[in-house]
Amino acid sequence: MAGMSAAHELAERGFSVDVYERQPHYVGGKARSVSVPHTGTDGRPDLPGEHGFRFFPGFYRHVTDTMKRIPYGTNKQGVFDNLVASERVLLARFGKPPLPALVNFPKSRADLETILQVLVHADTGLNASDIKLFAHSLWRILTSSYERRQQVYERQSWWQFMQTDEQRHRDGYAPGVPFPYEIYCVGGLTHSLVAAQPKLMSIKTGGDILLQLLLLTANPAAHTDRILNGPTNEVWLNPWLAHLTGTLGVRYHRHRYVTRFDCDPFSRRITAAYVRPDVGAPRSALRPTTTFRRCPWSAWPSSSAPICWPWTRHWASSKPWPPPPPRPSTG
Ligand SMILES: Cc1cc2nc3c(=O)[nH]c(=O)nc-3n(C[C@H](O)[C@H](O)[C@H](O)COP(=O)(O)OP(=O)(O)OC[C@H]3O[C@@H](n4cnc5c(N)ncnc54)[C@H](O)[C@@H]3O)c2cc1C
Repeated sequence: MAGMSAAHELAERGFSVDVYERQPHYVGGKARSVSVPHTGTDGRPDLPGEHGFRFFPGFYRHVTDTMKRIPYGTNKQGVFDNLVASERVLLARFGKPPLPALVNFPKSRADLETILQVLVHADTGLNASDIKLFAHSLWRILTSSYERRQQVYERQSWWQFMQTDEQRHRDGYAPGVPFPYEIYCVGGLTHSLVAAQPKLMSIKTGGDILLQLLLLTANPAAHTDRILNGPTNEVWLNPWLAHLTGTLGVRYHRHRYVTRFDCDPFSRRITAAYVRPDVGAPRSALRPTTTFRRCPWSAWPSSSAPICWPWTRHWASSKPWPPPPPRPSTG
């Protein structure tokens, strides 16, 4: 969806845009739904599978803003109106009953009961020291400056910051054996909240997401968690593709594989890109293609040499920019 977002923003500003997508069928990358083959009977489409949860936290700004600019039926705010607020989250666990959790500020007796139910059924195995360390770590992030987040927390892993290995030792668990602090406060949290690996995710990313979610639950007017009212492809990505390629005139090239970018170290600009037509093509077909049509002016390179975009040369020579290309026909 980063490519679709970039295409959307550029096309709205009058640029002529080509998107090269490796996938032959799907768009939207990891965000897409994946049809389960042969599940559609009696002429119905195959069942849409989602590769994970698909939630849009209340602190999102950019994705939701883009969604408002994707038309959908009679929706006033386009695809954005396909988001619905969820009230409860069920945390599924192996071999134990799932934990119902409240994700918004409690507004009824039933909400309070949900919170209390967790106390009864939780059975997490966490001890007082685990809880104390977890609270201490969150408080450290919450009270850290922007500079510390950028300079220090961006360079350290969530696993390390949460003192996972030290706590394992203190709790008396052998190396490699999953233990409650790791399951609920470190790995479980990153896996279930953002499908991220705790040893790779930075403190800044993990901490910022977690704290924003926690702070949202304290805001009675906010929706911490929103989900789509249908399969992701149907209620978001396919209408998006139609809007991009229709109204906005973006050219979408599927089954096109970008193999290389050349960059100019001085201007820090991309000077050439190589696109190969087919993922499964034999190696002889791997030469750079001249169909990379991002170049809007007449100076097309004639051979299979890397394609130099004229505007990068203009930047380098400080010449005035050529006029923008005409907008493609939207018919
Ligand atoms: C299980 C799971 C659940 C998630 N749940 C949520 C959630 O609930 N809410 C949320 O906000 N986020 C969620 N995420 C994260 C979110 O899905 C990703 O952050 C997001 O999809 C990343 O988008 P992207 O465009 O950066 O990358 P990608 O989705 O990886 O897209 C990259 C695109 O580039 C194409 N491509 C790759 N290489 C080439 C090449 N050489 N040439 C041409 N094309 C190429 C790919 O085919 C793909 O279409 C989840 C992630 C996972 C794994």
